[in-house]
Amino acid sequence: MTGRPVGISDRIWRWDRDVPLRWLLVDEDTGGRNGPDVVLGACAHLDGLFVDPVPAREPERYTLLGCEPAGRLRAALDRIGTDAARLGNVVLDPVHGPGRPDPGCQRYGTGCSCSEELLDLVVLDSQPSTLGPGLVDIDLWGHIQVIDGDRPPAARPPDADGFRLSGSHDDEPLGGCRQTGGVFRERPVPAVPPVTLVGCRPEPPLRTALEPLPDGPVTRRAAARRRVRAALYAVDGNGVAVSIPFDGLAGTVTGSRPSELDGALVDITLDGGFSKPLPSGAEEIWRRWYDGRPRVPNLWAGYDREVRHQWSGAALAHHRDGRPDRRAGRTYHLDGRYVTDVEGFYCAVGEAVNGPGGYFGWNLDALDDCLRGGWGAATPFRLVWHDADVARQYLVPGYDRWRLHPAVTLDYLLGMFREHGVSVELR
Ligand SMILES: [Zn+2]
Repeated sequence: MTGRPVGISDRIWRWDRDVPLRWLLVDEDTGGRNGPDVVLGACAHLDGLFVDPVPAREPERYTLLGCEPAGRLRAALDRIGTDAARLGNVVLDPVHGPGRPDPGCQRYGTGCSCSEELLDLVVLDSQPSTLGPGLVDIDLWGHIQVIDGDRPPAARPPDADGFRLSGSHDDEPLGGCRQTGGVFRERPVPAVPPVTLVGCRPEPPLRTALEPLPDGPVTRRAAARRRVRAALYAVDGNGVAVSIPFDGLAGTVTGSRPSELDGALVDITLDGGFSKPLPSGAEEIWRRWYDGRPRVPNLWAGYDREVRHQWSGAALAHHRDGRPDRRAGRTYHLDGRYVTDVEGFYCAVGEAVNGPGGYFGWNLDALDDCLRGGWGAATPFRLVWHDADVARQYLVPGYDRWRLHPAVTLDYLLGMFREHGVSVELR
């Protein structure tokens, strides 16, 4: 995660003017998987990286057609308008007919790649179905899972006789349906707001993108020259660059002008930028890291969940790889006073193991990975969790409407520590 991308010359760091160039745009694609990363430019400020509020996805309406509901789904139909009509997440697993594998379908242990997950569902209504006697059509309101950078939800239903429905907790059976409405459809690609690279020092590939287009019809090749796709690195006051573990930037150059920050720099406008901009509260975190590593713990305590998550992202970006773990058998102390949400737990456990600004996982998979070693502490170890009453109060069972996922509970975390040989002492 840390270190300089190949191809960054020292020139970028020897910028001796007053304007610190805090961000690097790095092309990680053109050179291929094993090829060099190429710096496109360094800039003082990225207008459009931090926004407030971060746009939320609109909920959608779905219909399960020809449904034989079971379990909580069946129970919800009699209790529409109450909390029992809230289903949490539901997985739709297609039932492919024998000998009719869907083209592009990949089998997994428990299902296939054609399955979709609907999130934070609420049952709105149900009525008898025309698809068969005793079947019902169920109207739902919620979201569809979009797996980042992987695949958008399918626009067309898979070749299937119907769908098995299950809750995302222990494959809880919820029955099945013949068809769906509103799930498989073309979705408009959300507009990405334009971005300005303020106070930019373009390197040769980006300078090429700034050259005026030739007169006459614009060829595809000339247009492609103006496309910019870059991963983002943050540069600290010592000139060390770290890769930011969030989506990069993509857009087409629409113009450039000398920068008001410094006449030797340019401001570059792009017609797009960050498909997932960062919350404005995160700007302070990166400014803090610019001045150096946090020296005291709990600087994240005043942040909300979204910005606490950003704190852990910055901690991950600055985690130093390649150091041996501290030996097994040690005791770490977790300050539990601010663990009012699971994001606060990740901040706190990072600092417990790796000190102020430390990282030790920022989601369950990452925590599991850290507990396997290589992230600062070899297991088994002892974790003294101080002020654990806070987590007992807040990390409780339920549906986490912010993460659109069943809540991560204190008990679940304790079980995970136990599995990895960590003895936790709650105080
Ligand atoms: Zn399939």
